[in-house]
Amino acid sequence: MKRVFNFSAGPAVLPLEVLQQAAAEMCDWRGTGMSVMEMSHRGKEFISIHAQAEADLRELLAIPANYKVLFMQGGAIGENAIIPMNLLRGKTSADYINTGEWSKKSIKEAKKYCSVNVAATSEANNFTSVPKRDTWKLDPNAAYVHICSNETIGGVEYHFTPDTGAVPLVADMSSNILSRPTDVSKYGLIYGGAQKNIGPAGLTIVIVREDLIGNALPITPSAFDYKQQADNDSMYNTPPTYSVYIAGLVFQWLKKQGGLSAIAEYNRKKAALIYDYLDNSSFYISPVAREDRSLMNVPFKTSSEALDEAFLKGAQALGMLQLKGHRSVGGIRASIYNAMPIEGVQALVAYMKEFESKNR
Ligand SMILES: *Cc1c(COP(=O)(O)O)cnc(C)c1O
Repeated sequence: MKRVFNFSAGPAVLPLEVLQQAAAEMCDWRGTGMSVMEMSHRGKEFISIHAQAEADLRELLAIPANYKVLFMQGGAIGENAIIPMNLLRGKTSADYINTGEWSKKSIKEAKKYCSVNVAATSEANNFTSVPKRDTWKLDPNAAYVHICSNETIGGVEYHFTPDTGAVPLVADMSSNILSRPTDVSKYGLIYGGAQKNIGPAGLTIVIVREDLIGNALPITPSAFDYKQQADNDSMYNTPPTYSVYIAGLVFQWLKKQGGLSAIAEYNRKKAALIYDYLDNSSFYISPVAREDRSLMNVPFKTSSEALDEAFLKGAQALGMLQLKGHRSVGGIRASIYNAMPIEGVQALVAYMKEFESKNR
């Protein structure tokens, strides 16, 4: 078997142990004679898989009892519409913080449902930082304040939880959920697609405070009404069963690694290897403000597109794949989610050094 170091931004690397367990259980899940893919979502076997996955996620994030965990579909982009439909609660506007490509997408979609107040933006510095909290112009009448906790494309991450007073904080955590301990009680809603740091595409995680649900706009599709899903244990419609199962295996794997404090320590170590090198190199350019750099997605580039191309080609030849920066920004991007082993990062940094010494 050949495994590469996969630096994809998503769908992304999964823990090898999880893939091996899924392979071993593929055709006969624990003596049932069936694959999880073939099971009724209403049967006791799948219900136990679903319940265990939720319990483990609750344990990992210490989710308070007054929060619902929903396993949905539609991705984070779907949630960009589903959130205003559910959370406006009779209000007519919402606050958004614009830190880059994913924030912009959220803002554009929300405008279909309410008026959007961009309370702060880092557009002036080309989205290379998180606007300081004391510069935000929040509206006390906003239905919620939306942030993207990690801009997967720009590599900008919040390393603080903004205080938004009585207005609920909503976070798109698609690309840094479960990468570190998170005080869920500071948020009204956390959401994310699974395919970055959790499992296969198709599953969308929503963690929402109970008092915020039950007031969806009448036009809200029933399958996207949080109350309907909460009342039906996320089974109002057929959930993405296999994705829930793999996510559950990843949650078990995270618990075995020592939980989120341990994985956060590991993630800090991995990211430091790259950033320390970037900081000491004049060959590579790392655009993001130091205090806002993402531990999950590390964008950088050389002095020319031709060199970037050569870098990517050489990396590929060494089994380091999907390092190309997003098509909107170019350059190079290393996504180093929970499941990226430190050996992958060490190999990348060794290659960066070698490439620099040959091309400077
Ligand atoms: C990948 C990503 C999305 C898009 O998610 P989909 O599952 O494709 O809808 C949205 N926000 C962030 C921060 C992402 O990383």
